[in-house]
Amino acid sequence: MRIGFGYDSHRFESGKPLVLGGVTIPDEDGLKAHSDGDVIIHAVIDALLGAAALGDIGSHFPDTDSAWKGADSALLLASVVRELFAAGWKTGNLDVTVICEHPRIRPHAAKIRSNLAEILKVPESAVSVKGKTNEKLDDIGAGLGIEVHAVCLLFPLDSATGV
Ligand code: MG
Repeated sequence: MRIGFGYDSHRFESGKPLVLGGVTIPDEDGLKAHSDGDVIIHAVIDALLGAAALGDIGSHFPDTDSAWKGADSALLLASVVRELFAAGWKTGNLDVTVICEHPRIRPHAAKIRSNLAEILKVPESAVSVKGKTNEKLDDIGAGLGIEVHAVCLLFPLDSATGV
C-alpha cells in the first residue's frame, strides 16, 4: 500500500461562491484561485497524486492554462481518480482536516464526505472530514483564509478483477 499527504491554502475573496469538497457554502466569501478555489479537493488531489508519485496538482492542471480558469475542482479530482485507476491504484481511505475560523465545517461534513466518496468510488465510511479553528493564531486564525491537510492510502487494484 502507499500513503500520500496533501496540503493547500487559499485566502478569501469576495464576489464568488465558497465551494468546499464540492459543496457550495451559503453566506460566505469564496476563495481566491485560478480555479473554483475548492481548497479541500486541491489538498485531496495532492494526497492522491503524492501517494502514487504521479506529480502534483500544478503539474496536471497548470494555473497558467486558461483551460482550468474557474474549473470545477470535482471534475479535476474525477480525472485524477481515473488516472490512478489506469496506473493500477484505488483509494483505501482519506482523512481531511480543514482549518478555518469560518465557516463551521461540521454542519457540512456529511455532504462533503458523500461527495468525495462518490468521486473516489469508495464508501462514505472510508472518508473523514474534520473541522478545526486555528484558535485565532496567525493569518488563518485571523479569518483571512482556509487551510486543508489531507492524508490517504492507496491499494493496488486487484489485477484479476480490476477492482
Ligand atoms: Mg489550491
